[in-house]
Amino acid sequence: MTGAKLFWWILLILALTLLACDRDKETAQNQLPPAAAPAPAEATRPPLTFPPDSGPAPAFDADRAMKYVKEIVKFGPRPLGSANHKKVEDYIDSRLKGDQVEDDIFTADTPEGKFPVHNIIAKYRGTKDGIIVIASHYDTNYPLRKTSYIGANDGASSSALLLELANQLRGKSSDGYSVWLVWDDAEEAMKPDTEMPFMDDSLYGIEHVAQKWQADGTLKKVKAFLLADMIGDADLNIDRDQNSTPWLEYVVGEAAKRLGYQSHFFARDNQVSDDHLPFMKRGVPCADLIDFSYGYNNVFWHTPQDTVDKLSPQSLEIVGSVMLESMRILDRMDPLPPK
Ligand SMILES: [Zn+2]
Repeated sequence: MTGAKLFWWILLILALTLLACDRDKETAQNQLPPAAAPAPAEATRPPLTFPPDSGPAPAFDADRAMKYVKEIVKFGPRPLGSANHKKVEDYIDSRLKGDQVEDDIFTADTPEGKFPVHNIIAKYRGTKDGIIVIASHYDTNYPLRKTSYIGANDGASSSALLLELANQLRGKSSDGYSVWLVWDDAEEAMKPDTEMPFMDDSLYGIEHVAQKWQADGTLKKVKAFLLADMIGDADLNIDRDQNSTPWLEYVVGEAAKRLGYQSHFFARDNQVSDDHLPFMKRGVPCADLIDFSYGYNNVFWHTPQDTVDKLSPQSLEIVGSVMLESMRILDRMDPLPPK
């Protein structure tokens, strides 16, 4: 080997060593926990030990979920008390035939008068003592609001996701917690946002469920409340919600990491008023999986532009399989952190 050749060999080895060091750094960074939660929440977060990875994730049929989205939006806008709303109720019920389904029907007293509200709850039994609740609202706004829209992302995407989760849970024996899927109603405000505080004029359906379960003792058995909302956006970036329970968001982040989907989760902090609040205020650990940035400056939200072409089956697949993986982790985290 000549001196010149030796020089080039040394140079090549040096370059490869540097490259390897860089890779190690990248891997180490990927193994860090997901983006840090706000400082106070992080400081009070209990140490979490996750169970070992349980192998390949359960399948989630995203194309079938997307078919459900299209079928729901085909009914048109679905505000409370409308004929379209009734059709979507029947549609959801029809997809749950043979399952253990409970209808929670009541009349909500709203600033616009009294309206029928219909929560649909499907129950899938596990052998562990406790319940994981997964919820999505399926209504769209009352027509008094400035625009009427079909809510492909806001309401239909997450409701379709739950229908596909039902397919995955149906008939399978589970050695984990029972899973209750809740298609809740009357999440949207009746008045335009500017006229009343959101919390005083929304979440009618899920508040009713939380009250009922508090009264009959069910609430004590709920180990976790996972909410899906606006999860179909093709440009999927799930917020880290400061109104959710930090440890449960870390479970979701761990599930996303195990599936290689961590880049879609928790890069942005947000504070979201949504269907989880009635459970949060009653001490149930909650995580709201929401991408509250739908188009530049959320421009498609609550507008006629909230249509199926803005969604992608891949986003449904990402959130659906992260939900399933989160449940698998929760089933094996014994005991779960205190509320
Ligand atoms: Zn909405």
